[in-house]
Amino acid sequence: MRGLMQDVPLTIDTIFRHAEQHHGDVPIVTDGPAGRSRSTYAEWAQRTRRLGGVFDTLGISADGRIGTFGWNSQRHLELYFAGPCSGRVVHTLNIRLFPEQLTYIANHAEDEVVFVDRTVLHLLWPLIDTMKTVQHVVVMDDGGDNEVPDDPRVLDYETLLADAQAVDFHITDEGSAAYMCYTSGTTGNPKGVVYSHRSTYLHTMGVISPNAFGLSVRDAAMPVVPMFHANAWGIAHAGPAAGAAMIMPASMMQPKALADLIVEEGVTFTAGVPTIWQGVLPHLAGRPHKLREIGCGGSAVPKALSEAYREQVGLPILQAWGMTETHPVASSGILPPRFEDADDEARAAWRARAGIPFLGVEARIVDADTLEEQPWDDEATGELQVRGPWCAAAYYNPDAGVELTTPDGWMKTGDVAAMSPDGNIRIADRTKDLIKSGGEWISSVDLENAIMSHPKVKEAAVVGIPHPKWDERPLACVVLKEGETATEEEILEHLKPQVAKWWMPEGVEFIDEVPKTSVGKFSKKDLRSRFAEYVTK
Ligand code: ADP
Repeated sequence: MRGLMQDVPLTIDTIFRHAEQHHGDVPIVTDGPAGRSRSTYAEWAQRTRRLGGVFDTLGISADGRIGTFGWNSQRHLELYFAGPCSGRVVHTLNIRLFPEQLTYIANHAEDEVVFVDRTVLHLLWPLIDTMKTVQHVVVMDDGGDNEVPDDPRVLDYETLLADAQAVDFHITDEGSAAYMCYTSGTTGNPKGVVYSHRSTYLHTMGVISPNAFGLSVRDAAMPVVPMFHANAWGIAHAGPAAGAAMIMPASMMQPKALADLIVEEGVTFTAGVPTIWQGVLPHLAGRPHKLREIGCGGSAVPKALSEAYREQVGLPILQAWGMTETHPVASSGILPPRFEDADDEARAAWRARAGIPFLGVEARIVDADTLEEQPWDDEATGELQVRGPWCAAAYYNPDAGVELTTPDGWMKTGDVAAMSPDGNIRIADRTKDLIKSGGEWISSVDLENAIMSHPKVKEAAVVGIPHPKWDERPLACVVLKEGETATEEEILEHLKPQVAKWWMPEGVEFIDEVPKTSVGKFSKKDLRSRFAEYVTK
């Protein structure tokens, strides 16, 4: 017997129409060098429909790839919807990628046009002749002062929009492609992940649910995580879907500017990687705000950072886990009520975990070679594997030998994790960052957390360095807070009661800054090569 319910496709134009019809008066604020601009979902919807007309005028193919190269802004939000709702595929180019990677992904995705913010035009324009399929460059004047080239390929966003006809959006195939995001590719070429209408719709429902980010009409959401990286963790869809106000920082990403935006625009929900919140903390501490949740993920969230927010800002950090391949959010850690009477330490320990998979995502930990499932006893570790309607099944035209899923259909994450009995994920490391010492694994994440609980430490990254006897040993690279001094002994003494003896780092190197990747994560690859010759003492 079959169910007798309507088979309506799950498409992004449904989210668009919902925001247009029911949340027209809700504000969208975009910051910028020339000040903040204010709009509403009603204006945004009207402009988005006209942008669909612009794509027709430009002759973009029916499922043509539309490259975007810009900050989190209202215009980017227009592109996010006009693209898929008119059948095209939005390909977000990460503005911080190396030039050769940008060329690679624009050619691999076959972008036909690139929409670029004027503040970052100087990063894109020199590469334009290497991007073989790009026919138009549409400049979005966000108050930047880069010179706009006098070239027939270069067009102005607002001029195009003013001349365009509004179009109707009606997508029928929920399985069709909506977005392309490339992973930063720490090894090999960047890999393309293709989100569909259906996966975006379901991920949006997951993200706005109360066990995740819990967005509603009562919220003002500020995605600090860029729209050019893993779709701003779904917030760019969750806002319109929930009728939440959108507060867009655009190019004003300096920590103080972010803190001001949070305070002055009444932001209630925001999300970004740990390094962002590290920087914002001193500018937000002690100021009045309306925040109810600060989402954080993308790399391990130090317990000390979350606790510093609890003490100085009045709310701890909400940890989430995911990856580009999981749309990207797959789990989060809302504190259950059984912790109401627990002490601060127990609560902080719970929050330091990656959380429980959302409804829709299933997780397991397995031996990566045999696929044998490991017990959920918080001790055993294994590769974290996931499956669900917003987990990728394959990469787009991958290089030979690149396999994303197991023969039994689970997605390999490359993360090593342990599970508590109720399936709360504890990420031990990325496979490639684990340190193998004397045949045993050491978690760099656990060591970093322990070091960062030292009051003088601002940041710590632990990497494996070659060792003649033990194969690899941990080396702690430590950044001290401004004006602080400390010795190696002091740091090691602090670690002693917290970690097993054989986990103790071989040494402590004080550095000025932890090198970061294009999306603000610790670049351990850089540290490993910098200290490859580290002479063990
Ligand atoms: P990349 O960093 O390669 O560009 P992603 O942004 O997709 O790609 O990063 C996904 C990875 O980020 C995960 O596989 C995991 O290693 C790491 N990550 C994400 N969230 C967390 C978290 N809460 N704790 C620890 N690591 C995390």
